[in-house]
Amino acid sequence: MGMERGFVKVDSLCRTSLPSVSAVGDLINTPQLAHVGFAEGILVAERVGGIPVTPIDYDGVPRITYSDPEVASVGLTSTQATERGLKTVEFNYNLGGNGRSVILQTQGAAKVIAISEEDGPGRVIGVHIVGSRVSELIAEAQLIYNWDAEPSDVAQLIHPHPTQSEAIGEAHLALAGKPLHVHA
Ligand SMILES: Cc1cc2nc3c(=O)[nH]c(=O)nc-3n(C[C@H](O)[C@H](O)[C@H](O)COP(=O)(O)OP(=O)(O)OC[C@H]3O[C@@H](n4cnc5c(N)ncnc54)[C@H](O)[C@@H]3O)c2cc1C
Repeated sequence: MGMERGFVKVDSLCRTSLPSVSAVGDLINTPQLAHVGFAEGILVAERVGGIPVTPIDYDGVPRITYSDPEVASVGLTSTQATERGLKTVEFNYNLGGNGRSVILQTQGAAKVIAISEEDGPGRVIGVHIVGSRVSELIAEAQLIYNWDAEPSDVAQLIHPHPTQSEAIGEAHLALAGKPLHVHA
């Protein structure tokens, strides 16, 4: 079986060099995360079962550091975007403007990175959040990234008050040129 740097080599549909043998999870050189292993296992099961499958977009997998404060990310960082030659705009929303974060006495920020287009920000390519309990916010960011939403799409959505999810909404409002509770 083909190997590379200690990992089993696979193609984008988890097929190894051996016919009828697939590999998933920590065996292959993809993010070493439980939810990635689940997704790869489902992909293989569906492919073997004859269901059409598409390669996983690993940039769209949420990554969380369960520290205090937590760090949660999906999509590209500013550095990765630059390395890929993408022109971007970004907004860093300070949780000081978020009522629930003030109640929880947590500091932090929600950073949104979008493609820079001539007529304004295009699709969101990265969301990165630091603060207490922000792991729970990354699911919305995951939808925003994976459904190619633009800041103006998200800016229209009304977020419940007082929740930390408002920080996601407000970061997109600001990027769409309509800041609400923005603290420097
Ligand atoms: C301390 C720690 C914390 C983690 N925390 C997180 C987290 O918070 N979130 C997250 O997403 N990921 C986390 N991970 C990573 C996550 O656990 C792995 O990415 C995931 O378990 C990989 O799944 P897997 O099925 O590829 O391998 P495993 O879950 O390791 O499963 C492999 C199985 O194969 C068995 N096995 C091994 N050799 C043989 C053999 N010869 N014969 C039969 N059975 C065998 C093992 O006993 C094991 O049960 C953590 C990992 C560690 C080590």
